[in-house]
Amino acid sequence: LHSVEAARAGAVLTVDLGAVRANYRQLAAMARARCAAVMKADAYGLGMEQVAPALAQEGCTVFFTAHLDEGIRLRPLLGPGCAIYVLHGPPPGTAGDCAAHGLVPVLNDPGQLHEWRALARALGRELQAAIQLDTGMSRMGIAPADLAALSADPGWLDGLRPVLVMSHLASADEPAHPMNAAQRERFERLRAILPGVPASLANSSGIFLGPDYHYDLLRPGAALYGINPQPGNPNPLRQAVSLHARVVQVRTAIDGDVVGYGCHHVVAGARRIATVSIGYADGWLRSLSGRGQARIGGQVVPVVGRVSMDSMGLDVTGVPDSLVQPGAEVELLGPTLTVDDVAAAAGTIGYEVLTRLGSRFHRRYR
Ligand code: PLP
Repeated sequence: LHSVEAARAGAVLTVDLGAVRANYRQLAAMARARCAAVMKADAYGLGMEQVAPALAQEGCTVFFTAHLDEGIRLRPLLGPGCAIYVLHGPPPGTAGDCAAHGLVPVLNDPGQLHEWRALARALGRELQAAIQLDTGMSRMGIAPADLAALSADPGWLDGLRPVLVMSHLASADEPAHPMNAAQRERFERLRAILPGVPASLANSSGIFLGPDYHYDLLRPGAALYGINPQPGNPNPLRQAVSLHARVVQVRTAIDGDVVGYGCHHVVAGARRIATVSIGYADGWLRSLSGRGQARIGGQVVPVVGRVSMDSMGLDVTGVPDSLVQPGAEVELLGPTLTVDDVAAAAGTIGYEVLTRLGSRFHRRYR
């Protein structure tokens, strides 16, 4: 695990910024549209401070965060030519902060729109705004009935300059799902109220639905970080993280011994059990208890027993003793232990695996 800091830490997360950049180039080349980057949740756990400037070097000029404070953190990392959109819009009473930090809110309901308009009036200047339309996901965005009511007033956008009209797909990772075409058709109909305003619909999976979904701006997050945007098909993107922990202790367990909390794993025969330095407090999901895998000494071995807060057990029987000494490196995520594989074992999605990975790790960027 190389450096002293890494040796002291329970686990080391290595972020391959070259892979993130290559993924960005690949996605951007798939469409004539511009390609943004979604930075929410600290760039899906990879670290916004490092990821955002790397993508800016690739020519990315449009970034999305979920929350206002994420946008405020991101602003000084990027040049003035970069736009930062706050997906949740400013919470009530914070429109002034949003404007003061040069962030563009995504306006998701009439209340946010009124508050942003009132601020423009108070400041005596035009404010940029993105307008999100709810095309069926019922999560965020102005509902069709609200849009009709708002736009009945010819001055509904007074003081605002709409720079983006957008919506979000509910089922883009299922290309055959009828919701995709239904949302696209609704988006077409509703966005007609903002003629000439650049449009955006596609997240990572949406990009792979084809050019009808590309509009003017792509909004990938997951695919930048190596999550497969087309589950069930080969992943065309590069995994951007690897994760290593270390062996803390090794023991021989005999027939009938139990491993870990709850005594759920009962040893049959004589087995070599290694305790390794990662647990659920590091974001290594407890649902990987008895289900996850790791690689040590070139072999893939199973997680046995419950994942504890700071450690878990591996059955390393058959791995040469010389390779399972205290301090030996254990790979948990890597080229062949992918984020999507770990997610499948944990019964979740790659997004959750990545965003849970803890700030407790030593992080290395390359
Ligand atoms: N656009 C919006 C509005 C989102 O909420 C998200 C994330 O969920 C994205 C784009 C990026 O999605 P993905 O990570 O699937 O590419």
